[in-house]
Amino acid sequence: MRTAAWLLGLLAALPLPDLAGQARSATAGLVLVEAESFADTGGWVVDQQFMDFMGSPMLLAHGLGIPVKDATTVVTFPAAGEYRVFVRTRDWVAPWNAPGAPGRFKLHVDGVELKTTFGIAGAEWHWQAGGSATVDTTAQLTLHDLTGFEGRCDAILFVRDAAFVPPDGGDALAELRGRLLGWDRAPADGGTFDLAVTGGGIAGTAAAITAARLGLRVALIQDRPVLGGNGSSEVRVWPEGHTNHEPYPHIGDVVRELVRKKGRGDGNARNADIYEDRRKLDLARAEANLTLLLEHRVNAAEAENGKHVHAVIAQHTRSGRRQRIAARWFLDSTGDGVVGALVGADFDMTGKGHMGVSNLWNVGNVEKNEYQLRCECEDPDDPLSLNFVTSNEPAPFPRCPWAVDLSDKPFPGRKNGSLGQLGGWFWETGFDRHPITDLERMRDQNLRAMYGAWDALKNVDGRHPNHRLKWAAFIAGKRESRRLLGDVILTGDDFHAMKPFPDAAFPCTWHIDLHFPRAEFAKGHEGDEFISDYTRGKGYKYKGPYWAPYRALYSRNIDNLFMAGRDISVTHEALGAVRVMQTCGMMGEIVGMAAALCMKHDCNPRAVYEDHLDELKQLMQRGAGGSAK
Ligand SMILES: Cc1cc2nc3c(=O)[nH]c(=O)nc-3n(C[C@H](O)[C@H](O)[C@H](O)COP(=O)(O)OP(=O)(O)OC[C@H]3O[C@@H](n4cnc5c(N)ncnc54)[C@H](O)[C@@H]3O)c2cc1C
Repeated sequence: MRTAAWLLGLLAALPLPDLAGQARSATAGLVLVEAESFADTGGWVVDQQFMDFMGSPMLLAHGLGIPVKDATTVVTFPAAGEYRVFVRTRDWVAPWNAPGAPGRFKLHVDGVELKTTFGIAGAEWHWQAGGSATVDTTAQLTLHDLTGFEGRCDAILFVRDAAFVPPDGGDALAELRGRLLGWDRAPADGGTFDLAVTGGGIAGTAAAITAARLGLRVALIQDRPVLGGNGSSEVRVWPEGHTNHEPYPHIGDVVRELVRKKGRGDGNARNADIYEDRRKLDLARAEANLTLLLEHRVNAAEAENGKHVHAVIAQHTRSGRRQRIAARWFLDSTGDGVVGALVGADFDMTGKGHMGVSNLWNVGNVEKNEYQLRCECEDPDDPLSLNFVTSNEPAPFPRCPWAVDLSDKPFPGRKNGSLGQLGGWFWETGFDRHPITDLERMRDQNLRAMYGAWDALKNVDGRHPNHRLKWAAFIAGKRESRRLLGDVILTGDDFHAMKPFPDAAFPCTWHIDLHFPRAEFAKGHEGDEFISDYTRGKGYKYKGPYWAPYRALYSRNIDNLFMAGRDISVTHEALGAVRVMQTCGMMGEIVGMAAALCMKHDCNPRAVYEDHLDELKQLMQRGAGGSAK
């Protein structure tokens, strides 16, 4: 856990870094260029998921086997001359001792290709030496992907001093980054708000909109360019759970604005447009009281540790620029309880035997207008809504010796040839791994399973000759990690007994849906299973809607911290029922209303239960839908 008491000491008026939108710097013969700050990232994607552990986001060549377009940028050097070059990278399949190093790429300096091929060795992030380059006072850098198979570049370092050894990680690397990029200086003033919401999944987005409509000044901080979390076009899970039930038929009105009713063709891992990123962004942007900070990750906080939050620090995922967001109340809707962990909130986490992580994927026919598909991107202004014309072109796919070897093993979709079995929710890994610190490994195992399955189908079975991998999420869809503890910890037994609560606040309608490795497909993959099963039958049903209590939505020890979504105060078992997205969104609505009462009565979230429950119920009766304003 990283508390940021140290930041309090740093908040004296230090000069702000002049990053001009680019995380790069030159000091004393060292020039550090963060890959995510490249002016043109080409076909590489910015991956911030592991930045709390790597120290910064990276660029990922997520090309599904087709090399992605070059990323380029121009760098200024303090002096022309010869520099030693290092690239921070890794061989992403090395943790499995797999052969082949699929993530290979090159670096060009002013059009000259360095001899070294990067990404070929080392399970851990490290500086791979790349020889030397002679530059003028400016030079163009080009990252050139060789494979399309998930090559990754964190940063590039140019060094004049022959004796300098760059630190591969830990505090020494953080210190170097801090010094060269200004990340160790005081963050800029990002403003003071009534409610600061961290995490723009459906829970956080619904909370921010609700609170803004009820008159609070709200900051919504989201580490991706889109809202919706697992329900966005980046992860592509369709939101389930029922809304708008008696006795509070308006709980769910904001969710209904964010997510249209499920129709034909809606589901998981479909085309990007059905997840309606634009709809969510437009709704958030329509609220005058709401400040939206996209591509900002909260990775530090100021707090009286274990008691009270003063501010969160949000770092821009491309420029590295840091902002201090102060607020009276905070909501942790990160799914991972990130804010709670930073400020010392009590939490629980199932270490082993928890639900895993999925990277959904799909396949499709080769299309005549294939080049347009290469443009498929996360830009909500340009979702993939074009019509494609099927072609009879064959789509060869290379052997992938570094992937999960499925040549002679079963997996869903192999026996019956069903394409619909590929890439669904049950392609899931990491049941016994740490849900937060092992995330890169879990995501990568999902990708290895996908590539292994497609290799087996195409090259061993000779199936689907005109099909290709069409889309795969590089953002891991997460189900379970930290659960922050509130005044009530909702349990599975509460669902079975339908235990009534005086502060019943959000209706649960999904069965107790827990996941575990599916025995049929586990043989030979023990410890790295990648197909899941789910709990079903009488022991996992209850008669919904079951109204869960408000007291599961605020921290029991941090007096101004709310939570909503999958990191609320529930046991592992109860999480199975509350975690579906429309239910999470309704938690957000309740938090938005409770925050409004905190503001009105100048009180903390607990006092809303103790002293203002009737008023909360009145707000719940009215709802916060657009027409209720
Ligand atoms: C593969 C899969 C299938 C599923 N199937 C279904 C289904 O069919 N229907 C259904 O309703 N639910 C399903 N679920 C469960 C559901 O998706 C989650 O429980 C739900 O998304 C939780 O919502 P949330 O808002 O709490 O979290 P999330 O959706 O995880 O959103 C949290 C957001 O916070 C952001 N964030 C995290 N940390 C930070 C930080 N430090 N700073 C800033 N931003 C941060 C994340 O990028 C993310 O966008 C599924 C889950 C998975 C993974």
